[in-house]
Amino acid sequence: MPRSTHEVADEVRKAAADGLTVRMAGTGHSFTPVAATDGVLLHPGGMTSIRSVDAAAGLVTVEAGCPLRVLNASLLARGLSLANMGDIQVQTVAGATQTGTHGTGRDIGGMAAQVAGLELVLADGTVVTCSADSPPAAAPLATAPPAAPPPATTPGLFDAARVGLGALGVVTAVTFRVVPAFLLEAREEPMQWSEVISRLDELTSENEHFEFYWFPHTEGCLTKRNNRSPGPPRPLPRYRYLLDDEFLSNTVFGVTCRLGHAVPGVITTVNGLAGKALGSRSYVDAAYRVFTSPRRVRFKEQEYAIPRESLADVLAEIRALFARRDWRISFPIEVRVTPGDDLWLSTAYGRSSAYIAIHVFHASPHQEYFRDVEAVMTAVGGRPHWGKMHTRSAEYLRQAYPKHGDFVALRDELDPERRFGNPYLTQVLGP
Ligand SMILES: Cc1cc2nc3c(=O)[nH]c(=O)nc-3n(C[C@H](O)[C@H](O)[C@H](O)COP(=O)(O)OP(=O)(O)OC[C@H]3O[C@@H](n4cnc5c(N)ncnc54)[C@H](O)[C@@H]3O)c2cc1C
Repeated sequence: MPRSTHEVADEVRKAAADGLTVRMAGTGHSFTPVAATDGVLLHPGGMTSIRSVDAAAGLVTVEAGCPLRVLNASLLARGLSLANMGDIQVQTVAGATQTGTHGTGRDIGGMAAQVAGLELVLADGTVVTCSADSPPAAAPLATAPPAAPPPATTPGLFDAARVGLGALGVVTAVTFRVVPAFLLEAREEPMQWSEVISRLDELTSENEHFEFYWFPHTEGCLTKRNNRSPGPPRPLPRYRYLLDDEFLSNTVFGVTCRLGHAVPGVITTVNGLAGKALGSRSYVDAAYRVFTSPRRVRFKEQEYAIPRESLADVLAEIRALFARRDWRISFPIEVRVTPGDDLWLSTAYGRSSAYIAIHVFHASPHQEYFRDVEAVMTAVGGRPHWGKMHTRSAEYLRQAYPKHGDFVALRDELDPERRFGNPYLTQVLGP
């Protein structure tokens, strides 16, 4: 468990000397073996601190292993916040950004799109920093070892390494662009499928953060509209949080998932009831408390990003699949949106995107469901979330990502011996 950039660099050099591969893990919340290695696996637990906060510039630098929940709480204590995030806050900052973790947002993209700078240990043990404004440079850090000059030709490192799958180097620190702390007003409301679909454009353009869940086998959806609020804060009463977020969304949901797994015939009825049980509610709270919630039921997940304009058609196709197949799916399907960005391997690269996430209970079979929905997604050039289950290979991904070739070329230059390689990277990037 390295405790500094210096120790990470030592570990990478040692792995090279021993002819081993090396990777750093986050908290293991990916559903793909993206972090796996049969060489040296570095634990992030010794690198969790906040290095610096520049509130005036809106820049915060944290060590790679800092959990998002620690970052969120520390930022709030300083009157700051990330501008957007995903559904949970247990991942490390490096783990979340390296796979392109995202939430939903009309104007603000995923977590890696909020990264302003990175510090990385490259395959030869060199420490470099990169940011939008500057070319890669030898890291000027007190903790860093005396660094050899960085490789002479690494243009594109910042655009590639923000969603880097751990393939270009071990990230040791991440600088986020942050904003003054803000309140979000959450408005959660059941809505019929037909209404959500007919109002998709309005709901996604009139709300800063819109998402919805469809309860399979029913007409019911749960919509979530989160918008900035001047306050005052109006948090969920404790009993309501415990009832909705802990009891209904986790405890009862866990029981119904196990019941549905044992007796699939009850799922249609249970989903109908679930859509009604999670009723309307509205509250105002610190942004991260609105964006994130506890998830305690274990599941398997596949998520694809598709062009935003294909969303209504793709959803209609998925519903048509449900009509044709004999599936019994207890988990709601989650739909989110983000603007396009310029990170080479971001699922939103170069296009305004919609995300469709499907899940099954961890013990239930997923193969046919995931395969058939994946076929619908890939028919419109869908891009799989790097941390969630999919069957795509480099051949497909080369077509789906305009910068896939540039990423691979940079990898060839920076890590010709595949010090950071593993079977998953071979699958998605090529040998
Ligand atoms: C319950 C649940 C909810 C989720 N919600 C969302 C969501 O709302 N939105 C979303 O987009 N995703 C979501 N995910 C997926 C999750 O955010 C990603 O899989 C994320 O990568 C997990 O982060 P982690 O810290 O566990 O990293 P890991 O899964 O441990 O690692 C992910 C990758 O990052 C690499 N990595 C980690 N640290 C470093 C480092 N220091 N340097 C280089 N590479 C590194 C690893 O090697 C690996 O390749 C969810 C997952 C779960 C289980």
